Amino acid sequence: MNFQKFSLKLVNRSYKPLGTTIKIGDTSIGEGVFSIIAGPCAVESPEQIDLIASHVKKLNLRFLRGGAFKPRTSPYAFHGLEEQGLIWLRESANKYGLITVSEAVDLESLSLVSEYSDIIQIGSRNMYNSTLLKAAGSLRKPVLLKRGMSATINEWLMAAESIMVNGNESIFLCERGIRTFETTTRNTFDISAIPVIKKLSHLPIIADPSHSFGSGYGVSSISMGAMAAGADGLLIEIHPNPEAALSDGKQSLSLEEFTILVNRLHALKEPLNLRF
Ligand code: PEP
Ligand code: MN
Repeated sequence: MNFQKFSLKLVNRSYKPLGTTIKIGDTSIGEGVFSIIAGPCAVESPEQIDLIASHVKKLNLRFLRGGAFKPRTSPYAFHGLEEQGLIWLRESANKYGLITVSEAVDLESLSLVSEYSDIIQIGSRNMYNSTLLKAAGSLRKPVLLKRGMSATINEWLMAAESIMVNGNESIFLCERGIRTFETTTRNTFDISAIPVIKKLSHLPIIADPSHSFGSGYGVSSISMGAMAAGADGLLIEIHPNPEAALSDGKQSLSLEEFTILVNRLHALKEPLNLRF
């Protein structure tokens, strides 16, 4: 692979041969720590996010996700509670001592999300949004950069480079599946991306089995596969009542299913020499 020809500089593994560790409060993401980020696709009500946050806390996990700005394929779908959603996410996270992840979809939401959330997510549909990438580069908050659904690994790394060149070095990548000819799953989880990113870049990479697989029943398999392949963590959608979720219910795990998965991952932790 001729890495130089793509002019990736700051994200290049040679820039930080030991790998990037992103420090967030008393925890970190990357190199030897396995971070499980869980929560609903979208914050729906204070009760919903509180119940999920208390469950995440009960499992001794540190990260709570919840969308407040939802880029949906259909204009008729639920697009999130915006600032109210961010407030409820923050309140529940504070109550249980959790670190939040929430998505920004444009410059306006970026300034709101960075006001309330600890980590800013840039989603698949916005991976090519150079204005948003540039603005995220001037923030002093970690950015979770998802892979564009049709992006090559080099385009994805170039998007990370665009954030980094603007001054923000706290970036971690998220493989969330790519579009292929296969239609039985929502996307095709590209497990190859994990070793390729590890070779090419120093940035941590996590896996999103929920948007990759698109149905709850495959989330556990993809999660364990990604963990064994060397991912630095997972981003998983969970909901107290997946059937009633306002978005992505089909791929969301119930709290009980999620507990079983976390226990399975704990069992794998020691043989894989990982810390949670
Ligand atoms: C999400 O995390 O809810 C989301 C919209 O993901 P993606 O950008 O991967 O589609
Ligand atoms: Mn979702």
